[in-house]
Formats: sequence, structure tokens, C-alpha cells
Amino acid sequence: MEVRCYVDSCTYWGNNICQAEAIEVNSEDAEKTPQRSDHTMCNTFKPRE
Ligand code: SF4
Repeated sequence: MEVRCYVDSCTYWGNNICQAEAIEVNSEDAEKTPQRSDHTMCNTFKPRE
């Protein structure tokens, strides 16, 4: 699956396509059920060095 991503500060970012083999996405707050996309987050994010 192709994942479009605009987080260019991530190690796995490449021309708006995620280059990771797989990603993990979690709820922003484990206590709440996400209702909007900004209630979710990519756990695979790793800052560029
Ligand atoms: S790992 Fe997550 S934040 Fe990083 S490029 Fe892929 S989708 Fe974007």
C-alpha cells in the first residue's frame, strides 16, 4: 500500500511517499476513541538526524 505523507522531517519520508516497509498508527490518546484524523498519529515517525 502506498502511504502519502507530508511530514518531511521524518527519516522515512521521500517525495511525499512513505518509504517505510510498514507503519503503525495509533490513537493520539489511548483513553479516547478517535473522531477525527488529527486524533491519530504515526508511531513509526522517526526524526531525521
Ligand atoms: S513513518 Fe509515518 S511520519 Fe514517517 S514518512 Fe512514514 S507515514 Fe510519514
